[in-house]
Amino acid sequence: MSLLKYTADKIFTGREILNNNQVLLLKSSGEIEDIVPFEQAGDDVQYLQGMLTPGFINSHCHLELSHLKNIIPQKTGLIAFIESILQNRFAEHEIILAAMERADQEMWENGIMAVGDICNTTDTLFTKNKSQIQFRNFIELLGFLPHRAEEIFMTGKKVLDAFEENEKWKNFTSYAPHAPYTVSEDLFKKINTADEGEITSIHNQETKDEDHLFKGEKNGFQKLYQNLNIDLTFFTPSGKSSLQSFFTLLSNVATLILVHNTFIHEEDILYVQHQIKNTRQQVYFCLCPKANLYIENALPPVSLLRQSNSKIILGTDSLASNDTLSILDEINTLRKNFPTIPLEEMLRWATLNGAEALGFEEKLGSFDKGKMPGILQIIFDENKKELESVNRLI
Ligand SMILES: [Zn+2]
Repeated sequence: MSLLKYTADKIFTGREILNNNQVLLLKSSGEIEDIVPFEQAGDDVQYLQGMLTPGFINSHCHLELSHLKNIIPQKTGLIAFIESILQNRFAEHEIILAAMERADQEMWENGIMAVGDICNTTDTLFTKNKSQIQFRNFIELLGFLPHRAEEIFMTGKKVLDAFEENEKWKNFTSYAPHAPYTVSEDLFKKINTADEGEITSIHNQETKDEDHLFKGEKNGFQKLYQNLNIDLTFFTPSGKSSLQSFFTLLSNVATLILVHNTFIHEEDILYVQHQIKNTRQQVYFCLCPKANLYIENALPPVSLLRQSNSKIILGTDSLASNDTLSILDEINTLRKNFPTIPLEEMLRWATLNGAEALGFEEKLGSFDKGKMPGILQIIFDENKKELESVNRLI
């Protein structure tokens, strides 16, 4: 059987960048066969400009919010952002559907192979059932009032059951708590029981107010809950950071994706490391830099996460807080703001780390034999920080 043979200026394998003279061999189906030195590759090697990489993994998105592109004001802070989402998220079904179809197509064209997608509804099912992208669905639950935990869980269960009716989503759907400030301890406990051995995700320390709320300090959530007619008198601050207040409530979860981490502190990172030290629990820190700039005009402490060898992955968040669904754009934003971080490392966050976090590492994330990770060509100028573009070859 004849193999496709690609060479380029560089090949990123999912782990490292190989410089020239290497050839990627693959079957016409896209299945990886090998990477060999040019001399051993034989005839018909096709040269491509730039760098070849495995397809990208978008570890955090909300496909169902795609119709909110260019609607929510920028840089207002998370609490005003949430209020605006609540006011604007409802739209006619056709509008929501058309926006999701466009977003799904945009992600595919931008080289995204798999998405960790937050779902409050079943809206995305139609698009996902026929998408070329692989999805892991996180059925999001939120409710801060303890007495409503059962009712909220049962509403979420209906959404989860609707997904799992389709064989395609049986092993790719779990519950996800929205954020520490919207999930009661009772609801966390229900999620922890239902998600035993599962992968899940939670928005973490996206605003400073989260820590302020749990430490009993003045915070913006009081006004938000007042506006939503939620009586907070039941709530007793733990006196700890928000992360340290909820973390042990998700102890049954096999893999936890902490999303954003814009205002995470070193002691929280060390706390997580200590908590999972003698367990099999995996924790990934998902960065969505463009959304952080859009909402809070801030960026996460990437250096702290790197120094502690934390596992980092990348996400776009939704079009409500981003103007593109492109992992390349997220990498470019990071390169602009953290110019000393090696590209090789960021590409690993965007490929193999993401595939592992979402449980797709058997097929995606690297050029290992037998995988079908998608093949991307990144065009770049060696003298510029910004990577120019990405083309999907397969
Ligand atoms: Zn999000």
